[in-house]
Amino acid sequence: MKLAERVSQVAPSITLAIAAKAKAMKAEGIDVCSFSAGEPDFDTPNHIKAAAEKALAEGKTKYGPASGEPLLRNAIAHKLKTENNLDYKAENVIVTNGGKHSLFNLILALIEAGDEVIIPAPYWLSYPEMVTLAGGKSVIVQTTAATGYKITPEQLRQAITPKTKLFILNSPSNPTGMVYTPDEMLELAKIIVEKDILVVSDEIYEKILYDGTKHISIGSLNEEIFRRTIISNGFAKGYSMTGWRIGYLAGPLELIKATITIQSHSTSNVCTFAQYGAVEALSGSQDCVEEMRQAFAKRREVMFNRINTIPGLSCLQPDGAFYLFPDITKTGLTSLDFSNALLESEKVAVIPGIAFGADDNIRLSYATDMETIEKGMDRLEKFVKSKI
Ligand code: PLP
Repeated sequence: MKLAERVSQVAPSITLAIAAKAKAMKAEGIDVCSFSAGEPDFDTPNHIKAAAEKALAEGKTKYGPASGEPLLRNAIAHKLKTENNLDYKAENVIVTNGGKHSLFNLILALIEAGDEVIIPAPYWLSYPEMVTLAGGKSVIVQTTAATGYKITPEQLRQAITPKTKLFILNSPSNPTGMVYTPDEMLELAKIIVEKDILVVSDEIYEKILYDGTKHISIGSLNEEIFRRTIISNGFAKGYSMTGWRIGYLAGPLELIKATITIQSHSTSNVCTFAQYGAVEALSGSQDCVEEMRQAFAKRREVMFNRINTIPGLSCLQPDGAFYLFPDITKTGLTSLDFSNALLESEKVAVIPGIAFGADDNIRLSYATDMETIEKGMDRLEKFVKSKI
C-alpha cells in the first residue's frame, strides 16, 4: 500500500511506546516503578463527574455546535477574563477534543508549506510533528540548564526570519517544569510585537505551580501582544480529566472561525455531556485543584531532593507541572540507552529526553504515589552508581 508521504515524515510517540512497554511488564506481574505518566494519578473529582452524569440523564446526547456548547464557551471566556486578564468573548473560543487537538486545529488553520514555526527545545514532542503534518518547518531553538531551559530574547530574535509565522510558548513546560517570569515574558512579547509574528501560549499546566509561583498569560501583558496571541488550554491536567478529551483555543475571531470550520469537517462537536462536566470544573469549587496541587508539591520535594543526592545526576527545581528533567550526561549514556537499560535492569520507566529534543536528559513524572517514588529512587540510585 502506498501511504501518503506525510506519514513517513512523523514518528510514533516515544512517550507512549515506553509507557506501553512498562504497562505490558506490569501486566506480566513484574514490579515496575513507572515515572512515565503524563497524567495525574487522581480520579476526576466527583462533582465534575456528577455534572456530566446529570447531563447524560437529561438527554444531552445529541450533536451540538462544532464550536462547543454555548454554556461552556461562555464559562471559558469568563475564566479567561477573571483568572487570566484576557478579554475574550465566547465567540473567540472553540471547544476541542483536548489540548492536543486544540494545537492541531490551530496549526492546520495557520501553517502551510514555507511557513516556519519557532519551537524552543526541550519541547512537548507533538509540536514539531504537528508542524510537519501541516507542511510547515519547525525551527528548533536549543536551550540549556544555564537559562533554566528557557529561550532567551536574543535566541528568539535570531531565530525569526521573514518566513516565521508562529512561536510556541509553553509555560509551565512539559518536559522541564520551568515557568517564565513576567519579565522574561515581557521581553519575548516585545520581540513578537516588533517582528509581527504570532504566539501560541500552551497553558495546559497553569494550575500546577509551586512555591507561590503565579501563572501569567503572555497575552495579558498588553494590547499589542494580546492581538498576536492564541491561548491553548484544557481540562486534562489541572482537573485530572485526561480521558474526557476537552480542551480549548481562544484567539482572534478570524482564526477561531477557521478552526471551527476545520473541526466541523473532522471531529464535529466534542462529546456533548462531557462538556457539562467541564462547565462544572470551571464554575464549581476549586478545592480539588488545590488538593491535587498540594499532593504534587510534596512528591516534587521528595523526588527532587533524592535525585540531587545521586552522584552523576543533576536537576533544576521545577516551578510547575509534574515532571523532573535531570541531566544524565555524566553516565555517558544516550537518553534512549539510559531509559532502556533502566527499565530492563531495575524495572524503572522514564522517558528519554531525546523524545523532547534533549538527549542529555530524562523525564520523570511524579504523578504517582509516594511509595513508588521512594522505591523507584532507590533503584535509580543503584542504576546510576553502576554506570559512573
Ligand atoms: N500540551 C502539553 C505541553 C502537554 O503536555 C499535553 C499533554 O500531555 C497537551 C498539550 C495535551 O493535553 P490533552 O490533549 O490531554 O488535553
